[in-house]
Amino acid sequence: MTPSDSFDAWPNKRKEFLRRRVLSRVLTLGCASVRLLAVLGCVSALQAQNPVPAPQPPRPIASAPVQAPGSAPNQAPNPPRFVVVLDAAHGGDDSGGRFSTGDSEKAVTLAFSVRLRSLLAARGIPVVTTREEDKSLAPADRAQLANRASAQACLILHAAETGSGVHLFTSSLAPATNAHFAAWKTAQSAAVERSLALAGELNSALTHAGVNVTLSRTTLPGIDSMTCPAVAIELAPERDASHTILAEPASADYQARIAQTLATALLEWKTDQNRTDQGRTEAGQP
Ligand SMILES: [Zn+2]
Repeated sequence: MTPSDSFDAWPNKRKEFLRRRVLSRVLTLGCASVRLLAVLGCVSALQAQNPVPAPQPPRPIASAPVQAPGSAPNQAPNPPRFVVVLDAAHGGDDSGGRFSTGDSEKAVTLAFSVRLRSLLAARGIPVVTTREEDKSLAPADRAQLANRASAQACLILHAAETGSGVHLFTSSLAPATNAHFAAWKTAQSAAVERSLALAGELNSALTHAGVNVTLSRTTLPGIDSMTCPAVAIELAPERDASHTILAEPASADYQARIAQTLATALLEWKTDQNRTDQGRTEAGQP
């Protein structure tokens, strides 16, 4: 080996060494870059396959009725049962008036009560009668029977030989200011206003049917102790314009016509009561 050889060769070897080393680094970096690019390419490819969804506006939540846990669904309270009381006046020892036809008032009122009861029953209206036979009943007993029925209409049936058409009587008591402390003899005072309304309903139906009607207020035994809307109905003879009698109160046909009209009026009264009860319920009143 010559010194020049060794001198010239050394840098060449070193250069070669350095060149290889650099080449090796470049290759390493190149491979790393390729791997990185490959990874980035995969990520890009994955991103292309699974694009990030664009933000969506919030979906509206279906509105459902909110109900307190354990609470029952709202239910309309049952309206009070509509009941009619028919009180055939007189009976037993008390015959009432006596007609020229030979009929007694107690028999006419009982026949009229039975007729009206079956017409109301046919219309689905429950009826409570104070008597179904010829028996005596004290006014206080009649009132007690009527009050126990918690009726929405109490009709006290009488018959007369005088007058014309139908006479309607309501209690002459003044309306009570405090219904909670009404005395037995003046219990009707708490219901007087509704009694007048019921008489108005009956009057309207009878007048519409061509019946002559007389409205009065009076004191009648029994009726003043009733707590229901109460009207006394006195069946008088049917007369023409010259006051000639066309039908006596004992006439079955006449009774049937009047009973039919009263049944229609009571059905209307029932509808009115349901409307009033519904109004009270909606207003939150008892
Ligand atoms: Zn009478």
